[in-house]
Amino acid sequence: MTTYGTSLARLFQVEPENDWRNQAACRGMDPELFFSPDSFETKQGKDGREDIAKAACARCEVRAECLEYAIKAGERYGIWGGLTEQERRAVVRRRTAELRAGRAG
Ligand code: SF4
Repeated sequence: MTTYGTSLARLFQVEPENDWRNQAACRGMDPELFFSPDSFETKQGKDGREDIAKAACARCEVRAECLEYAIKAGERYGIWGGLTEQERRAVVRRRTAELRAGRAG
């Protein structure tokens, strides 16, 4: 198991009752689908792995909560809320730009 994969597994081990994580569509799935492996991964392998993970996120009832958790926690790796790390960084950049534009306007 990857270092990053264990962080998702740990997330589900410490959940309190009635937490949003109880509704996660990825519960019971292999965490390694959501994180790049420590070893080399081909583009085809990465795309296939991410497609499976994102398909779970697409049908997840707590996608918004998961995404906000990952952004607030500064999760640097893996797919959370249906977005890759690069896609989450883009969301943060867009929100920051919108905030600055709001302050300027
Ligand atoms: S949005 Fe994706 S990663 Fe987050 S809890 Fe749902 S299935 Fe899991």
